[in-house]
Amino acid sequence: MVHLNPSCNTHSHWLHNAPYQQPTTTPLPTKADIVIIGGGITGLSTAYWLTKLNPTQSVVVLEARGLSSGATGRNGGIICPGLNDNFDHIVQKYGEKEAERLVDFDYRNVDMLAQFLEEHGDKDNGSFDPQITWLKHGTVCAWTSEQEAYEALPGAIKLKQLRPHEDDIEILSPERVQEITGQKVFKYGGLQIKHTAIAWAARIVYCLARAVEDKVHLATFTSVQEVRQQSKEYRHQIITNRGIIEAKKVAYCTNAWTKYLLPTFQRHLVPIRNQVVSVPVPPVSKTENDAAKMDYVLSANRGFQYLSYRPYDQTLIFGGCRNTTAGWMVYEDDDSTLNQTVSCHLRGQLEDYGFPHFPEREWVGTMGFSIQDGLPFVGDLTRLLGKEKGSGQYIAAGFSGHGMPRTFLCGRGLAQLLSDQSLDSYFPEPFLVDHSSRHYLFEQSSKL
Ligand SMILES: Cc1cc2nc3c(=O)[nH]c(=O)nc-3n(C[C@H](O)[C@H](O)[C@H](O)COP(=O)(O)OP(=O)(O)OC[C@H]3O[C@@H](n4cnc5c(N)ncnc54)[C@H](O)[C@@H]3O)c2cc1C
Repeated sequence: MVHLNPSCNTHSHWLHNAPYQQPTTTPLPTKADIVIIGGGITGLSTAYWLTKLNPTQSVVVLEARGLSSGATGRNGGIICPGLNDNFDHIVQKYGEKEAERLVDFDYRNVDMLAQFLEEHGDKDNGSFDPQITWLKHGTVCAWTSEQEAYEALPGAIKLKQLRPHEDDIEILSPERVQEITGQKVFKYGGLQIKHTAIAWAARIVYCLARAVEDKVHLATFTSVQEVRQQSKEYRHQIITNRGIIEAKKVAYCTNAWTKYLLPTFQRHLVPIRNQVVSVPVPPVSKTENDAAKMDYVLSANRGFQYLSYRPYDQTLIFGGCRNTTAGWMVYEDDDSTLNQTVSCHLRGQLEDYGFPHFPEREWVGTMGFSIQDGLPFVGDLTRLLGKEKGSGQYIAAGFSGHGMPRTFLCGRGLAQLLSDQSLDSYFPEPFLVDHSSRHYLFEQSSKL
């Protein structure tokens, strides 16, 4: 049973008046070379790269609700490379060279995504204008306690030494954090990544959809219930609420909801909810900080809070605070209800920062966390599921709250694998589902 509530009561700023939110009326094809399950940024990036790398294949994307109605249509809209993990831990686990490649991949993804949007996006504030805004001060990760600063500093120092990004990354003194943010509460310094943009992420998906819709069948409100194997050329039978489709290959781009179709990932790719508000910024009053001058993204309290200001519609986007709840909203995947404790904390925290705190919209999104290492699972499932079941099945999921700088090129990697092509030399091996560091997946699946 897939828990994707089609009638959603939490209203994302990004999905208001969005395109591709109606049920597809064209009948589902009965056969396709490749079926992609999931119509978020990963599924649509994969479809896009397939049209570039392998244009003769027939491709179908199946999405349970509207396009981008999952995490991509409910996120914070921050595109910042290289930050969701403590870099020191990454170096210890994978070695310096691989750690460097991981950061490089993020930077490359950000630039290639920006280039795609330059070519395929509009600049008219409409549904296909992602409103990419590069920020003068980038992302400021403000350390909120002495302990946090102590734990983060070794990784920050190593990150700062990375070539060719050393000029992009700064370790900030407490005074400098206060100067940029105007917040005296930040007394422990922080880390800055300057190469940061904010964007209307759902519209990135709509740009991808528009770029492929002549060649790819996009089926909305088509929920996959089960994928069965059969001994035929079209070896996968995909059972949906709108009928059955047979495919030679299947790609799971289902992020937080992957376990419903692939139970092997049950304990490893975990849904975690997060809550966000959008707050219109009125003309500045004496008691409020001037939000309109925010030319940075603020990430605070170990990333449990993230705040940005959108000049296009004079709106603050503030998300997080799930750590104020008993279970941190881990193992929860229903994005149709709000958590009242988080609602209170989001408003209270905005008020403490001196910003407007009366939201226009408030919503929940569900992230898919690969809890053992925080890296996405990308690749061929043959080894993991066994030849009979797994061959012809692929995955790109588990972006762990850090999808904007990774999904576009993970979609490219997935498209290469689906087309029997080699991965780009820069593709990070630790993302691969059967990378040696991911032995835990195999231990569990052999017991199933
Ligand atoms: C509140 C929040 C804030 C975030 N903020 C940021 C941020 O600022 N910066 C950043 O980099 N990342 C952020 N993230 C993470 C980022 O949004 C994700 O990493 C990224 O969107 C993942 O894209 P995806 O396409 O893999 O997943 P999704 O966008 O979740 O897409 C998966 C799709 O699969 C569909 N699906 C699932 N199961 C089925 C099925 N059985 N049949 C058919 N369809 C199915 C779902 O409906 C969904 O649309 C945030 C996430 C959340 C929730």
